[in-house]
Amino acid sequence: MDFEFPNPVKIVQRTARDFARQAVAPLVPQMEETGRFPKSLLRSLADVGLLGVIVPRKYGGSELGFLARTVALTEISKVSAAVGVTLQCHHMQTAAILDWGSREQKERHLPALCRGDYLGTCAITEPTGGSDLTGMGTTARPERGGWVLNGSKCFITNVHLCAAPLVVAKTGEGSRGLSAFLLKKGAPGFSVGRDEHKVGLRGADTGEMFFKNCRLGSESLLGDEGEGMKAALKTISEVGRPGMAAAALGILEAALEEAVKFSKSRTLYGKPIANLQAIQWHIADIMMDLESARLLCYRASWLKDQGRLDCATHMTMAKVFATEAAVRATRKALEIHGGCGTMMEYPVQRLWRDAMVCVSAGGTTEIGKIVLSRAALN
Ligand SMILES: Cc1cc2nc3c(=O)[nH]c(=O)nc-3n(C[C@H](O)[C@H](O)[C@H](O)COP(=O)(O)OP(=O)(O)OC[C@H]3O[C@@H](n4cnc5c(N)ncnc54)[C@H](O)[C@@H]3O)c2cc1C
Repeated sequence: MDFEFPNPVKIVQRTARDFARQAVAPLVPQMEETGRFPKSLLRSLADVGLLGVIVPRKYGGSELGFLARTVALTEISKVSAAVGVTLQCHHMQTAAILDWGSREQKERHLPALCRGDYLGTCAITEPTGGSDLTGMGTTARPERGGWVLNGSKCFITNVHLCAAPLVVAKTGEGSRGLSAFLLKKGAPGFSVGRDEHKVGLRGADTGEMFFKNCRLGSESLLGDEGEGMKAALKTISEVGRPGMAAAALGILEAALEEAVKFSKSRTLYGKPIANLQAIQWHIADIMMDLESARLLCYRASWLKDQGRLDCATHMTMAKVFATEAAVRATRKALEIHGGCGTMMEYPVQRLWRDAMVCVSAGGTTEIGKIVLSRAALN
């Protein structure tokens, strides 16, 4: 078994690390303040090949695969999980178009998404509950030459900066009752609502969408009618979950760094608190969570690159473990900081807030465990 990254992945890791330090880190205070994704980052993310990391070269991507994607998202998220999550949701739309799009849809949308003309998004969740896909209320009714959409979506990442969102709507009943569509911003009857004020991942835009007799042409259907559930589940489990896992991995790396730095610099009883065994145990726990999450994330991404069908189970495991581990680890890192951990000038509080938000985005821990137990029991 070879634990060494192939050369192209090493290059992506270095590129993403440098980019995160130079281009993303200076924007973190502004993102924390406004809660908005800085538009100025879009083109530079495209320039370093991160928007099209899983897209083939013929559509303008850098075609580096899922392990490279995970490694890049981790480096970005170590500096800003908000930017990591923005990127990962963007990748979800590129993957869905690759998997389900017609040649014409791929040629029209993928180069624009890779160039950073706009961000990608997949709109599935509704106010009626994100865990229950069949309970969604947004409908797409067939009419001559197209479809009429009615309903709403909520908690949608990147919605404010996406010109052609992917939307899943009800076209029938049961598991074949959902279909996916590619909308155009500005289509009559389609509007974007408020930008949510989140406790964490500030800098990843999250918002609402409304459809009121929104008319779409027949060319907007992505995949076949009735394939929306399959498309949503595959995109969530094979792209969304590993993306959130990588964001959590970045948070875990940052948590370990902050915990070590503080425990070496804070002096009590005449010595750095790193000498106290209770602090050392916290650090050891953070380290074990980090390395366990890392192995799960890398293996799941590697399986996806090998085209293995069982990758979805491993990606769900990586997502549930890494996001829960990030919550545990950031809490411990925060405790190591004592009162300083609760002060806004110490980054550890941001890591803790970001970790909490990563738990539900991409599917909750409870839903993840249902998926995993089903895989084990079947
Ligand atoms: C920052 C952020 C970004 C997001 N981005 C997107 C996006 O881009 N696109 C998109 O479509 N969605 C997005 N979401 C929505 C996300 O996918 C949902 O929040 C998630 O699926 C959970 O849905 P919910 O919040 O409606 O919770 P609910 O589904 O209402 O769940 C509430 C609680 O019930 C539990 N629960 C539900 N069903 C079961 C069950 N069968 N057994 C046991 N417990 C259960 C849940 O685990 C949870 O604890 C985002 C969310 C966040 C926070």
